[in-house]
Amino acid sequence: SKTPVGFIGLGNMGSPMAKNLLKHGYPVIATDVFPESCKELQDLGAQILDCPAEVADKADRIITMLPSSPNVIEVYNGPNGILKKVKKGTLLIDSSTIDPSVSKEMAVAAEKMGAVFMDAPVSGGVGAANLAKLTFMVGGVEEEFTAAKELLGSMGANVVYCGPVGTGQAAKICNNMLLAIGMIGTAETMNLGIRLGLDPKLLAKILNMSSGRCWSSDTYNPVPGVMEGVPSANNYQGGFGTTLMAKDLGLAQDSATNTKTPVLLGSLAHQIYRMMCARGYAGKDFSSVFQFLREEEGQ
Ligand code: NAD
Repeated sequence: SKTPVGFIGLGNMGSPMAKNLLKHGYPVIATDVFPESCKELQDLGAQILDCPAEVADKADRIITMLPSSPNVIEVYNGPNGILKKVKKGTLLIDSSTIDPSVSKEMAVAAEKMGAVFMDAPVSGGVGAANLAKLTFMVGGVEEEFTAAKELLGSMGANVVYCGPVGTGQAAKICNNMLLAIGMIGTAETMNLGIRLGLDPKLLAKILNMSSGRCWSSDTYNPVPGVMEGVPSANNYQGGFGTTLMAKDLGLAQDSATNTKTPVLLGSLAHQIYRMMCARGYAGKDFSSVFQFLREEEGQ
C-alpha cells in the first residue's frame, strides 16, 4: 500500500487535487487554517491535523497549495511550520503560484533540514483540478523529478520539468500574464460584438472556429449564458479569484523589472485587475472583467 501524502491548503484547487490523491489510493494527511475547508476531505477519508508541523511529523511527501508568498513562508518557516518537524529526505512540493525568489529561499531552508523542496505551480483551473487534468511546471533538482512526477501525475495530465528551483514559477508567471491579457481581450471583444448586435453565443462560436480563439473564448468564456459549468454561468463564483490574478500579474511585473523586459500589455492587465480588486471584484472569478467593463461603460 502507498505511504501517506501530506496536503496543506484545501481551497478551490487544493481540495480537488487532494481528492484525486485519495482516488489514486494515497492516504492523505491534510490541514488548512479554515476548518470548514477540511470537512469534505475528512468525509472522504483524509486525516485532518491541526498544523503543518504535525503533517510534516507524519508524512514524508508533502504538497502545499496556498494563495501567495506570505502564506508559503508561514506554512514552511512559521512557528507551526513544516520545517519545524520535517523528516530527513522528505519531498516538499509547493504548487502555489509565488515569487520564484521565495521558492529559492524555501529550497535553501529545506536543504538545511535534509529535505528537498520543489516548485510545481499548476495551470488549468478548478475544472482541470477536478478531472486530474492539470499541467504542473516543475522546478528543482532533476534527480528528484521522477518521484515528484509519480505523485503529481495522479492530479494532472502534464508534468513538465522546467529546470532548477524557481523555473516552474517562471513558466507559470509567463502563462498567467498571457492568460490575463487573453481574458481581458476576450471580454472586451465579446462586449463589442454584443453592442454591435451579435448574439454572444453565436459570436463565441465564430471566434472559436476563427483565429481569435483562445482558452478564455473556448473553455472559460466570460459572458454569462455562453457556456455552462464556468464561473460566468454562476455569478463569477469559485474559479480563479481576481485577487490571485492581480497577485500573479504583480509577480510578472517584478520579474519584468528584474530582467529589464518590456511587458506593456502585462502592465496594463495588472492595473485593470488591481482596480477591479478595489472596486468590489476581489472575491469574484477573474473572468468578471467582462462585468467590470460593462459597468465602466455605464450599463
Ligand atoms: P484558495 O484561496 O481557494 O485556497 C487557498 C487555501 O489555503 C485556503 O483554503 C486557505 O484557507 C489555505 N491557507 C492559507 N493560509 C494557510 C496556512 N497558513 N495554513 C494552512 N492553510 C492555509 O486558492 P486557490 O484558488 O486554491 O489557489 C491556490 C494557488 O494556486 C494560488 O497560488 C493560485 O494563484 C494558484 N492557482 C489557482 C488556480 C485557480 O483556478 N483557482 C489555477 C492555477 C493556479
